[in-house]
Amino acid sequence: MNIILLGPPGAGKGTQAKILQDRYGVAQIATGDMLRAEVKAGTELGRAAKAVMESGALVSDEIIIGMLRNRLSQPDCRNGFILDGFPRTVPQAQALDTMLAEQKFDLDAVILLKVDEAVLVERISGRFTCAHCGAGYHDKFHPTGVAGVCDKCGSHDFVRRPDDKAEVVKDRLVAYNAQTAPILPYYEQKGRLHVVDGMAAMDQVTAEIEGALRRAGVAAPATA
Ligand code: AMP
Repeated sequence: MNIILLGPPGAGKGTQAKILQDRYGVAQIATGDMLRAEVKAGTELGRAAKAVMESGALVSDEIIIGMLRNRLSQPDCRNGFILDGFPRTVPQAQALDTMLAEQKFDLDAVILLKVDEAVLVERISGRFTCAHCGAGYHDKFHPTGVAGVCDKCGSHDFVRRPDDKAEVVKDRLVAYNAQTAPILPYYEQKGRLHVVDGMAAMDQVTAEIEGALRRAGVAAPATA
């Protein structure tokens, strides 16, 4: 199964990609996570990307396309992949088509998680993550059971993304509407686009995505 998860920041792409990765046994490829790893490691690429990411703008197509080309050539992608956060511009979508053709990958479906813009700022600006095990929480929608203690590993250390501050989220939404939304007609014309209600409960969203994948001809996971 090779799919793309699309949607504005805070739509739930990362959450759903992780669930689908486990259920279908495919690789989750999140360009935002890859960039954050580069920033953390202090690489040249990370140094170039850091300020751009913190401003809420998009990193250049050239950097992102090069990074994705490397990732798609790795052997685990042969079992299938979920693209999360890529493509984000029309040139990235076009470059992806070329890469897929080169590597003889078919694209099964593009899933758009549709969420009202009004809820996105609140959804994103309350997010935090356990610094130790990576478990995700939210101040309002999913707090830890005991304040300041991770439910999963008991750690007391948490991190918040610098670009999850409300003022940066607004700029990320501007970038989404201006640069990413124009790729929706691109996939609609190819007959690949499936729209899912991202406002529903998390399990319901997963069920709707799985329904769309079945309709796109993707075999159900063995455990379903
Ligand atoms: P994300 O974790 O997907 O929300 O991405 C965080 C930030 O990384 C974005 O706001 C962009 O600055 C950058 N980024 C991630 N993926 C891409 C992409 N495909 N194209 C350009 N910039 C990206």
